[in-house]
Amino acid sequence: VKQAKASGRPEVYEPKEASLARRRFSIETELRRALDRDLLDLFYQPLINLKTGEVTGFEALARWTHEDRGEISPTEFIPVAEESGLILSLGRWAMDRAASTLAGWDATAGQKLPFYVAVNLSAIQVARDDIAAMVGGALRSTGLSGDRLTLELTESSIVQDPRRATRVFDALKALDTTVAMDDFGTGYSSLAYLQRLPIDVLKIDRSFVTGMMVDPDSVAIVRAVLSLADALGMSTTAEGIESRELATTLAALGCASGQGYFFAKPLATDEALEFWQSRLRKPATKGSRR
Ligand code: C2E
Ligand code: MG
Ligand code: MG
Ligand code: MG
Repeated sequence: VKQAKASGRPEVYEPKEASLARRRFSIETELRRALDRDLLDLFYQPLINLKTGEVTGFEALARWTHEDRGEISPTEFIPVAEESGLILSLGRWAMDRAASTLAGWDATAGQKLPFYVAVNLSAIQVARDDIAAMVGGALRSTGLSGDRLTLELTESSIVQDPRRATRVFDALKALDTTVAMDDFGTGYSSLAYLQRLPIDVLKIDRSFVTGMMVDPDSVAIVRAVLSLADALGMSTTAEGIESRELATTLAALGCASGQGYFFAKPLATDEALEFWQSRLRKPATKGSRR
């Protein structure tokens, strides 16, 4: 035990795994509290039609600003939520919040707005919750039609229990929602499920998109995914478009839509609606920075 100079507090050195385990545990405790107190937020990242530059939708992404620790990334707290089961209440909260935000935007605009909101669903929710009933409930309580929602599912939700996944995907389609396969290409699902399950959209994982700039293999993978989607009658979305060059290249390759910092970061509720409006007001810059 060493004496820390400034505070005079003893600085205890513990093995890295132990301090990680402690952080994980306090994240879990504090996440439970944050959910109880409604302290999480949802941000909305625009999805852009790569041909026209129009906003086609927004992906709802959970945000957590901790009173002491500051911003905690979902890449840290979502896995904790999944391991602890808190993802069930977090997922329900996100679904309800996203649907009521979209219904609120419609009400503000006085019209059924021409875009959707995409909500992430964890494999744990698919395995343990009645997702179709949850989504159906959110639609009923907001009056939204199913075509206003996209559900982003990952390959891991298929792998664990393919028969259950088939029932869930079919039930989501019966609600007229759009089903997207998130982070496509990073999981372990068999291509046979692409054929068997009612999947509308393949979301190309950010790692491949980022890789396109430096790695010919990534370009080959992206091309292959685009042609696979085309052959199976699915649409495509690219994640992580950070430059004009990537946007133009992906558009030229036939990728239908994309999201990324080049267009916009995830935005707070008001900013998101303003972003959509600003793109309408300036048709000359429809492609914005393109
Ligand atoms: P995801 O569903 O693949 O979401 C896309 C992630 O890529 C988001 O990270 C987004 O902010 C980030 N991103 C988008 N464009 C760019 C870009 O141009 N550059 C870079 N560097 N990043 C970009 P975020 O918000 O940190 O979320 C991480 C993951 O956490 C999500 O990945 C999703 O798997 C999970 N997540 C977030 N919110 C929820 C939620 O409400 N429910 C569930 N089940 N998972 C969530
Ligand atoms: Mg997603
Ligand atoms: Mg994704
Ligand atoms: Mg991803």
